[in-house]
Amino acid sequence: MPGSETGDAGQDEVHLGGRSVIGGSADFSLAFGPFHRGIRPMPFNKLGLYSSIVRAVAAKGYGEPTPIQEQAIPVVLTGRDLIASAQTGTGKTAAFALPILNRLGGHKLPAPRVLVLEPTRELAAQVDEAFREFSQFTGLRTALIHGGVGYGAQRNALHKGSDIVIATVGRLMDFLHERALRLDQLECLVLDEVDRMLDMGFINDVKKIVSLCPKQRQTLFFSATVPPEIEAVARFALHDPVRIAIGRARPVNESVTHAIYPVSPGLKFQLLLALLAKTDFHSVLIFTRTKHGADRIAHRLKEARHSVAVLHGNRSQAQRTAALAGFKEGKYEVMVATDIAARGIDVAGVSHVINYDIPMTPDDYVHRIGRTGRAAAIGDAFTLVTPAEASEVRQIERFIKASIPQLKLEGFDYRATPPPSRAGEGDRSELSHPLHANDRNHPHPSRRRA
Ligand code: AMP
Repeated sequence: MPGSETGDAGQDEVHLGGRSVIGGSADFSLAFGPFHRGIRPMPFNKLGLYSSIVRAVAAKGYGEPTPIQEQAIPVVLTGRDLIASAQTGTGKTAAFALPILNRLGGHKLPAPRVLVLEPTRELAAQVDEAFREFSQFTGLRTALIHGGVGYGAQRNALHKGSDIVIATVGRLMDFLHERALRLDQLECLVLDEVDRMLDMGFINDVKKIVSLCPKQRQTLFFSATVPPEIEAVARFALHDPVRIAIGRARPVNESVTHAIYPVSPGLKFQLLLALLAKTDFHSVLIFTRTKHGADRIAHRLKEARHSVAVLHGNRSQAQRTAALAGFKEGKYEVMVATDIAARGIDVAGVSHVINYDIPMTPDDYVHRIGRTGRAAAIGDAFTLVTPAEASEVRQIERFIKASIPQLKLEGFDYRATPPPSRAGEGDRSELSHPLHANDRNHPHPSRRRA
């Protein structure tokens, strides 16, 4: 293993190939890094996993473990608690799923032994799928619990008995209240994307769930960043954890080419259309700040004969699932999404990300860009920026420690008279509206349940 362990105030810190750990955002470019640097990682069958699991990994097409897998798997196998700072895209799901499955052995009734908490439905579904694939030769059973769909099928799955429950917080709380689920047999609790869960206002529910778990258990914590408020939750939930941090020097994938396209507010949509027409894209993810903005842009793109899916929190679960599946299969060439809805989704082969609205925080920029260039593929990321947003651009540049080239689209008439404006489009007046301000990172309490 290319890491060394050093004691740090009673906790172990694992360093990646000699890189020091300084916190901050994960570095997508390092996620699959050492392979490109000529260091040969230890293959999956040398990490202490049973052959039934190694077979499933091979069936999934993974050749070698990613750094987070190589470091976390042996730790989780020993039963120790873990804090890992690593983002989606680093291979963190397998980093916890594989050793957990290994430790569980075979199917056992009556109550679940593993609970994985996820911030969004999409992530929960994705992690459930990974668990199912990795456990295909083991007989272990998983149950997926999330909001936005009926209770019946999920209640049945719990009743039948599952070894692993993958859940979003709100729906899990509902089942705990109606005593459809016991946590007293729990051996392992995974809190995934903890930073996101806290951002979404789930702190009290997360603490409640932790307090319902047996004291004797393994707890694994995954978070892109570990700021003080997350350390506080960690102190509450974890015992003597090992720490792993994967990359953070440059939070943006080196394989992504960024560009900023300055434009006046009234010509934003025209520029988007022109960019789509001029770019040889395979599949494009377009981000807007608000759900209404996403709907509006999608509608106008459809009018311009693009095949478009929309992903945001006001859509039903069935619509969200169909949108994501259609986009993944290539039925839609464009998906318009808000930050929360798109958080953590894994769509292989997104060739372009276009920020129709500049992200609210530099952290969101990194997350959005993380959708492209995953697993070291090549992607482009364009951000449409109005003159009023210059200071936001500087903030992003400071955060990613790089300047982003400003480009003009050749042949685009930047002096054209803007078409008659459609309400709120292209400017930021909508963001001062309380309903829309609520729309993104700070959902109204009644809408918080994922
Ligand atoms: P995650 O960070 O768990 O969301 O994983 C990001 C993507 O990388 C998913 O599509 C995984 O299937 C893929 N992946 C994870 N581990 C490996 C690996 N060792 N080799 C190749 N692909 C992987």
